[in-house]
Amino acid sequence: MKKILCLLVCLFAVCSCSGGNGLYTETRVIMGTYVTITLNRSGKTNDELVKASADAFARITKVDDLMSTYKPMSNLSRINANSGIAPFPADPEVIENIQDASYVSRLTGGAFDITVGPLVKAWEIGSKGAHVPSPGTIKKALALVGWRNIVVDKKAGTVFLTKRGASIDLGAIAKGYASDRAAVALLEDGIKGGIVACAGDIKTFGVKPDGSAWTVGIQNPRGPEGDVIAKLPLTDTAISTSGDYERFFIKDGKHYCHIMDPHTGYPASGLMSVTVLAKDSWLADSMGTALFVLGPKKAYALALKHPELEVLMITDSGKVLATGRFRGMKIAPPAGAG
Ligand code: AMP
Ligand code: MG
Repeated sequence: MKKILCLLVCLFAVCSCSGGNGLYTETRVIMGTYVTITLNRSGKTNDELVKASADAFARITKVDDLMSTYKPMSNLSRINANSGIAPFPADPEVIENIQDASYVSRLTGGAFDITVGPLVKAWEIGSKGAHVPSPGTIKKALALVGWRNIVVDKKAGTVFLTKRGASIDLGAIAKGYASDRAAVALLEDGIKGGIVACAGDIKTFGVKPDGSAWTVGIQNPRGPEGDVIAKLPLTDTAISTSGDYERFFIKDGKHYCHIMDPHTGYPASGLMSVTVLAKDSWLADSMGTALFVLGPKKAYALALKHPELEVLMITDSGKVLATGRFRGMKIAPPAGAG
C-alpha cells in the first residue's frame, strides 16, 4: 500500500484557528495521503458545512477511484493493462487530466512525462524495495517511456498507449487536479472561502472569516516537518511543492529521489525543492515536478518566461532562485544545505 505522506506544507490558518473561530476543518486519508479541507463558516449551518465538505471529499475520492494505479479496476489501471492492445473508453475527467499533462509535457520539452510508469516501477522509490536498477533494466523501461505514445481520441472518449507494457502514472498531477475539483464542489455548495490540501497540493479560494487571505507555509527541505522557510498570504491561488526529501533512498552516499528524469531514466537531481504558485492546482502540481526535473538553470529560464507561474526553487547547494512574488521575499537558505 502506498506510504502515507506527511503534509508537506503547513497550513497555519488551520493550526491557529482550530479552536473554532469561524473555521470548519476535516481531514481524511484519500489517494494514499492526508487530505484536509478547511472552510470559512461564513453564515453556513453546521449541516451545510458537513455536506459541502462531504461533497468535496467525494470529488477527490472519484479522482482516486479513476486514476489510482493501486486500484486494479481504476480507469488508469485498465488503460495500462490495455497498453499495446486496445483503446480504453475513459471517463472525461481522466481524459481531461491526461490532456493537461500533455500540455505540460510539451511546455517542458518532455521533462514532465506521465508515461514514467515503467521507470517508477523499476526504481521502487518510496517502498522497501527501492534500489538502483541495472543499466539494462533502465534501458528497457526507457524504451516504454514517451508521452507522445499516448493517443487520446476525444470524440470516441478513449485513451490508448501504443506500446505494450507502457504505463501512465498520474502521481505528479492527480492530487492537484483533485484539489481543483474539490474547490469547485465547495463553490457550488455556496462556500465563500476555504483551502483544499491534498498533501502538498493546495488550492485556496475566497478569504478567512476575518476577511484576510489564507496563510500557507513552505517546508524547509532540510528541516524537520513544520519548519518553514517562508509564509505567504494566498487567495484564489494554488500552491504545490515537489521536493527531494519526500521519498528517496541513499546508496553509496548518493541521494536518489522519487522524481524521474524521463530522458536519462535516473532520478532528477540539482534541486532540493520547487514550489509553484498558479491559478490552478493541476498546473502548480505538474509544473513543480517538471521544473524539478529540468534542474536549476533550465527551470529558472522557463519560469522567467511564464509570469502565470510564480516559482521558488532551492538548489542542491542551498541557493534560492525566485520569480514573481517570491522575488521580493526574504528567504533564508535552508540550514544544513551545501
Ligand atoms: P510530485 O511529488 O508531485 O513531484 O510527483 C512525483 C510523482 O510523480 C512520482 O512519485 C511519480 O509517481 C511521478 N513522476 C516521477 N517523475 C515524473 C516525471 N518526470 N513526470 C511526470 N510524473 C513523474
Ligand atoms: Mg507534482
